Amino acid sequence: MTKKLKVIYNYWLVRLGIHQILPAECIRKVKLEENNEPLVRVDTDSNIVISDRLAPPVYLRKTVYEKLKFMGQMLEEYGYRIKLYDAYRSFEDQQRSWDRRYKETKEQHPDLPESEIERLTRLKVSKITDKNNVGGHQTGGAIDITLVDKDGKELNMGTRYAEHNSKTKTKSNDLTVEEKSNRDLLVGLLEKLDFVNFPNEWWHFAYGDKMWAAYKFKRHCFYGYIEPDLENKKSVSDNDNLDNIAESDEHINEKKTEKMKIKTKNFK
Ligand SMILES: [Zn+2]
Repeated sequence: MTKKLKVIYNYWLVRLGIHQILPAECIRKVKLEENNEPLVRVDTDSNIVISDRLAPPVYLRKTVYEKLKFMGQMLEEYGYRIKLYDAYRSFEDQQRSWDRRYKETKEQHPDLPESEIERLTRLKVSKITDKNNVGGHQTGGAIDITLVDKDGKELNMGTRYAEHNSKTKTKSNDLTVEEKSNRDLLVGLLEKLDFVNFPNEWWHFAYGDKMWAAYKFKRHCFYGYIEPDLENKKSVSDNDNLDNIAESDEHINEKKTEKMKIKTKNFK
């Protein structure tokens, strides 16, 4: 089978629900129609817990942040909160992550050739060489996330954040009943808000970026590489809610409809 045919074959296996992971080519070829929605700062006083590993300011695209705040409000009633492990990462942050993971992999496997070390590193972190072809975290649309109880204790998801083993895949067969039901809760809530989960990592969710579009089988996405407006960091209010958004934005109007639908749902 030629490489192109293999990609099409694998695409259809995912589309038909037989396999879960799309070939990387399917994600790369999604076209970008940037909607220029700004990055906003995540308010440290909000109902979202920010992991200690994230140094403020933490940025997200405005709609992504609004979705999370809304999810946080709903969860409060049930004694849970959202915890963010990672959000927007700049091009430079991503390169630093790559360097760190590469070094770590090389130390673990000192005898392997460079190409193999690179392949193993790619399983843990995206290699970004081009601002036109970035990973989700550089768009402000991707989040690494979990749920915590009222004492701030993380729900048992089967692995720690960024731990790669047989339980890392969201639908791993090695999960206990408790781990599976906690993941189902996290994934279920975020999917209702139109995020997609990356099936290889239970904690990674996307909205508006190439991965999101690919897993939704859409040709276009609307979040590409972006940098915070450092000159004017506070120009966008972090406190707008979904009801205050201009009517003209098609994507956001879709979200308003969703919000109404979600309001009628009872999250358990
Ligand atoms: Zn991630």
